[in-house]
Amino acid sequence: MNGNVGFIGLGKMGLPMAKNLLRNHYNVFGADVNEDALIEFRAAGGNTGKLEEWISDVHSIILMLPSSAIVNKVLEDIISYVTHRARANHEPLMIIDMSSSYPSDTRENNKKLKQYHINFVDAPVSGGVKKAVDGTLTIMAGGTADHFQNCKRLLGSMGTNIFHVGPIGSGHLIKAINNYLSASHLLASCEAVQLLESFGVEPKHAINVFNQSTGRSGSTEYKFPNFILTESYDSGFSLDLIKKDIGMANQLFKDSGAATSLPEMVYQKYNEASNALDKEADHTEINKFVSSYLLKRGILNEENEKIVAGSTDSGTNLRPGSLR
Ligand code: NAD
Repeated sequence: MNGNVGFIGLGKMGLPMAKNLLRNHYNVFGADVNEDALIEFRAAGGNTGKLEEWISDVHSIILMLPSSAIVNKVLEDIISYVTHRARANHEPLMIIDMSSSYPSDTRENNKKLKQYHINFVDAPVSGGVKKAVDGTLTIMAGGTADHFQNCKRLLGSMGTNIFHVGPIGSGHLIKAINNYLSASHLLASCEAVQLLESFGVEPKHAINVFNQSTGRSGSTEYKFPNFILTESYDSGFSLDLIKKDIGMANQLFKDSGAATSLPEMVYQKYNEASNALDKEADHTEINKFVSSYLLKRGILNEENEKIVAGSTDSGTNLRPGSLR
């Protein structure tokens, strides 16, 4: 047995990650506000119970929560239980925040936790639900070299590419910017493929060519073939969560005084999409939102078959629908 670990947030990502810890012989205490998640975790061999019941028995606690606000609240709870109850093994507790949290909150939390002799590492992930299930996530960790070394083995039970990327908060910084890039590629690819479709080009042909050319990205190589062209829209990463990440990236650009309007534009589009689509929408459903505004501008009609009024002349002989 590799020791006792706490895991808070057994959602789409957290549940398979915690199950991989069980597979790697950790004794895991799971917590979530959703009873169904606890039932599933117990069925996989995990322990559940109130945080205050198991906190003194674990050497590390992993957080995989939806937002910085929730992470901040859970850390307050942890601090109150650590201070009110002696820990059985006198090792300093290690907290690893694997959620995509706001980097400045992470730095503040680190200062606060230090006062209670609690070690802190930010270790957000990329790879999505499939890699969480396979245990092949990419993990970008921020914190001291010692703290990183202490939790490297634990992280290795959930991921295969594990990077120490700098001081506390660096993982969360890279994660926010990575997801801004990913969201930008996805939005640009949805617009590009739908524009080509209006000229009669089948989306699968466009994607095949992009994937052998410089227009390729994670969106064209993975998200289009698996979730968009199949119309399954079930990547497991919600529109609300990617909107949170783009919002963080946009704020980071603004705070740094960078002279670019692209992050704001991308954020606005995802924000509009999240207002227009279901609350539970998958982030790949941005494709549906793109078709709604391309329609409004008159580039595509409902059946995607002919030009509707309002289409603009591009100045070439090719107009939407003219290849059909
Ligand atoms: P999710 O909404 O499926 O899971 C979050 C879980 O946290 C839920 O089970 C929820 O009940 C639980 N929770 C909420 N408040 C809680 C509280 N106070 N105490 C205990 N549990 C609480 O989200 P997810 O998709 O698993 O994402 C989790 C984190 O990972 C987010 O920060 C997200 O941005 C990030 N992330 C997600 C993906 C993905 O593909 N889904 C990929 C990379 C990173």
